[in-house]
Amino acid sequence: MEAIHITDVAPRDGLQNQPVHLGANDKLRLVQLLAAAGVRSVEATSFVSPKAVPQMADAAELLPLVHAALPELRCSVLVPNLKGLERAHAAGAAEIAVVLSATETMNQRNINMGLEQATEISERTLAAAQALGLRTRAYVAVAFDCPFEGETPLAEVLRLAQRMQAAGAGEIVIADTIGSASPGMVKERMRVLAEAIAPERLAIHLHDTRGMAVANAWAALEAGIRRFDASVGGTGRERAAAGNLATEDLVLMAERSGFATGISLDGLLEAIDFAQERLQRPLGGRAIAWLRRQREKTNSSNNTSPETATT
Ligand code: MG
Repeated sequence: MEAIHITDVAPRDGLQNQPVHLGANDKLRLVQLLAAAGVRSVEATSFVSPKAVPQMADAAELLPLVHAALPELRCSVLVPNLKGLERAHAAGAAEIAVVLSATETMNQRNINMGLEQATEISERTLAAAQALGLRTRAYVAVAFDCPFEGETPLAEVLRLAQRMQAAGAGEIVIADTIGSASPGMVKERMRVLAEAIAPERLAIHLHDTRGMAVANAWAALEAGIRRFDASVGGTGRERAAAGNLATEDLVLMAERSGFATGISLDGLLEAIDFAQERLQRPLGGRAIAWLRRQREKTNSSNNTSPETATT
């Protein structure tokens, strides 16, 4: 079976807007459950201003805990600029990610600077990270639609992705930030991008806002994309089923379609149970009810008649 690579972004993207703040030990436990499920790559935290994102204020405490507990796990951390990179490096980061929005207005509204200036900051941060020997990822955000400017021109997404490639980004992550992409749009855009950027350096980050994240992931697979972001339980900014593409949905779809993920669905359920108990809210993507029923069936058949559990 052909393998796909999944980066679970729940510890950062999933937790950063939650009303309930998890402590570093709970975050570490979540990462440990993901690793136990077979996840090999996570986005662990972000080194942004604690005033802007108080949920990530413990980044410098958490990262060394994760590295010590799981030395084999790939841990990327988000950094907004050189100052964030400095803090991440001091905390022992081995991999960083920068975020570049693909439209002028999104940059103005989000970080109060223009697109060109934001692009240069991303390029400088990537260069400095490489000089420190770190692995790098670069997000191209609002790569399908922008909440302020409407559809983002594909030529612009391509131009910025190529600039991130030229700046040496190890992985370029095309993000459907507002969850508005359709499978047709994903297939077209990712095909064009895959002609310019080697598939092993190209990834996609999807949201389930309109219920199309799994269909969009399939469209990306058809376009040759093999690297995905996903968040266990669909954990993200909005209500459970409308946040990030749920890792369990992606794993189920990919495995059923002949792709190997190396990730156990039962293991993911353990992580979801833990996260929803700590966050005090229901989590889980589209398949969560079915996955739970399957687990109950397996458990009850194991308990009552172990002789027939293999049927
Ligand atoms: Mg997201």
